[in-house]
Amino acid sequence: MGKERFDCIVLGLGAMGSSTVYQLAKKNKKVLGLEQFTCAHSMGSSHGENRLIRKAYFEHSDYVPLLERSYELWKEIEKNSGRKLLHETGLVILGDPSNSYVLKGVKTSSETYGIPVELWDSAEIKSRFPQANVPSFFRGIFEKTGGFLEVENCVRTQCELASSLGAELRFEEPVVRWKQLESGFEVVSAKETYYCESLVITAGPWMSQWLRSLTDKFKVHRAPLFWFKSSGAFRSELGTPCYAFDTPTGFFYGFTEKEGLIKIALHLPLEEVSEMDTVNREIKPTDLKPVADFVKNYLKGISPEPQKSGLCFYTMSPDTHFIVDKVPDSQNAFFAGGFSGHGFKFSSLIGEVLSDWVVGGKTRNPVDFLSVKRF
Ligand SMILES: Cc1cc2nc3c(=O)[nH]c(=O)nc-3n(C[C@H](O)[C@H](O)[C@H](O)COP(=O)(O)OP(=O)(O)OC[C@H]3O[C@@H](n4cnc5c(N)ncnc54)[C@H](O)[C@@H]3O)c2cc1C
Repeated sequence: MGKERFDCIVLGLGAMGSSTVYQLAKKNKKVLGLEQFTCAHSMGSSHGENRLIRKAYFEHSDYVPLLERSYELWKEIEKNSGRKLLHETGLVILGDPSNSYVLKGVKTSSETYGIPVELWDSAEIKSRFPQANVPSFFRGIFEKTGGFLEVENCVRTQCELASSLGAELRFEEPVVRWKQLESGFEVVSAKETYYCESLVITAGPWMSQWLRSLTDKFKVHRAPLFWFKSSGAFRSELGTPCYAFDTPTGFFYGFTEKEGLIKIALHLPLEEVSEMDTVNREIKPTDLKPVADFVKNYLKGISPEPQKSGLCFYTMSPDTHFIVDKVPDSQNAFFAGGFSGHGFKFSSLIGEVLSDWVVGGKTRNPVDFLSVKRF
């Protein structure tokens, strides 16, 4: 007991950790993944049915090569598991072209990397997405490769693939501390003590507990989700895409219909959370108000009374870009965090990057712009 030694231990099996254990197992590493909750749980940042994915990235065009690789990896995961996870329903982003930095960013990325997109004028919006109620000066940019990922199924599938390749995954086993030894690491969980050559920390909203010198780089915020009743008009079989609206009251996005419901959210970090383990997970009337107003004002035929809701967490970095790097003052310890509410689509790729670093110290994926050294 207590003397098990692994090539690598991964702390946290959410989006980034499940992908990392899969990628390490693919590289024949003896890997242990430790997760405090169950597989694909709803306590952190990776739950709520679906996540948008798109290539013409308005946040910064440097992400586009990473997205190309993420898509390849999602398709490989689908092939290896025989499961459908990525749904390319198409995605339309609507806004006022005279002042929308979102539309400008989409245009820049699509032009820089030659990503095919369609520009929709008012008539095209009416015919292709008649459920939208937007002013006539709004324009749309439609990306055929946009769509969504099944969030819990992506996490579950990568854990299952990792296990089938020999990874040890232990759930409901929180890590309580780790320390660097002369050679490798000691990792102590609530149940056992383990040893490893390399350590990967993918603790999502619990990140700052593990990287004390970087606490101020990971601020956790509440992010609510709402489901509204739909009468069939938002089904993807009708050609309805996923959608996002850059409005004067915020950036709202939503999905195609599943079991008579559409999920809608505001992309905005709400109140900061000081302690994840004691956070109040209730939804407040002020969480709903902007989303219900959006539904009322911008979507046709949808009642603004939600049928269900959920709470998720954004871990914000100071500049809203991810932080993926070596743990400061350590050897062979790496981390990925601060995904700022837009990281899920990249998780297949992040696991590849972290596993490349564990195995050989370098990666061919261009992630230098995500280094912590930028701060
Ligand atoms: C409401 C909402 C909507 C979003 N929409 C999108 C979107 O449309 N597109 C997109 O790309 N991204 C989106 N995101 C962002 C994306 O979901 C996150 O960036 C991503 O899921 C973060 O993954 P993670 O692995 O860092 O965190 P998590 O998935 O939370 O994983 C961290 C894991 O570490 C575990 N852990 C922590 N401490 C310990 C410990 N001591 N011992 C063991 N295990 C531990 C946790 O239990 C957890 O399972 C959204 C996020 C939210 C909240």
